[in-house]
Amino acid sequence: MKYYPLVFVLTVFLGCGTEENYYTMEDFSKVKKIDTHVHIETERENFMEKARSDNFEIINVSLETKNGWDDVHRKYRYGNIQKKKYPDLVETVTAFSVSDWDDEHWKEKVITWLDSCFQEGALGVKVWKNIGMVSRDTMGKLIMIDDPKFDPIFNYIRDQGKTLMGHLGEPKNCWLPLDSMTTNNDRGYFERHPEYHMYKHPEMPSYEDQIEARDRMLEKNPDLPFVGAHIGSIEWSVDELAKRLDKFPNMSVDLAARMGQIFYQTARDREKVREFFINYQDRILYATDLADHGNSSQEELYQGMDNNWKRDWRFFVTDDEMESDLINTKFIGLKLPASVIDKIFYGNAVRWFGIKK
Ligand SMILES: [Zn+2]
Repeated sequence: MKYYPLVFVLTVFLGCGTEENYYTMEDFSKVKKIDTHVHIETERENFMEKARSDNFEIINVSLETKNGWDDVHRKYRYGNIQKKKYPDLVETVTAFSVSDWDDEHWKEKVITWLDSCFQEGALGVKVWKNIGMVSRDTMGKLIMIDDPKFDPIFNYIRDQGKTLMGHLGEPKNCWLPLDSMTTNNDRGYFERHPEYHMYKHPEMPSYEDQIEARDRMLEKNPDLPFVGAHIGSIEWSVDELAKRLDKFPNMSVDLAARMGQIFYQTARDREKVREFFINYQDRILYATDLADHGNSSQEELYQGMDNNWKRDWRFFVTDDEMESDLINTKFIGLKLPASVIDKIFYGNAVRWFGIKK
């Protein structure tokens, strides 16, 4: 047997074993991707035509905002219209309303509705921040997500093999004055929506109250797959988020509308953020919160889609120095291995939402 020095053998062995592939900007439209948090609320096809050419599938998400069941039905219907036009590219997540919370038939009504959506192939159910921040029972008490009245609904969703998606609470910035917020998009949003700017409403539940109610709900439902929208409202610290993901194995998070907070943390400690994405590569779903209400020009719409999708691809696959209007400092892309990108941009959506492929 020929003699090879040990160091040489190890170098060849380890070198081959750990060689990573990386994507480039040129791969953007070649790689299959899923945006798991989109709101198309129009019949027009512009959004999905661009999605198709950029190799994006989408999950169109319904929710209850201010108009109870009308919101739920309307938003869900648009998702279904898109799904009929693009059956290979569009999936839906439905929702339910708590506007008739104290109606004695509320539970049956919710389950009948969800059942009809599941029959049509809806992948899951979204609950929104109206729970915890807006919706009240007939006594005037805020409805919180750990209320036992939700238990049979969540058990039903679990038994049907579906996923619960939750936008619960808000970014921590919501409880801070405008000039202390870490991202420009949060500052703009809460300036436009003082009703949701909790810093101005000290009588309302605190950030911690919201997170604790959500965590108690997760404790009660360990077998319910849960996708925490907007980084599970723990967008301000990858360390804190890691603790939650360790504590709740049934929890994953989507990145929708919170890339600013990721950029902000990356500008301060890129290695830590990069390590987080590698360590939790099975628990993070790419998402944007992009919307089409049918009232912008195609040019504007496509500009907005490029601004998000191409910016985020660049951030995750390259180590370019970048700037974004979301924050006021420069930052360096994470350049994650292609195997990690494939999970965050595709595989995790398939797994967490049970998409049949
Ligand atoms: Zn959304």
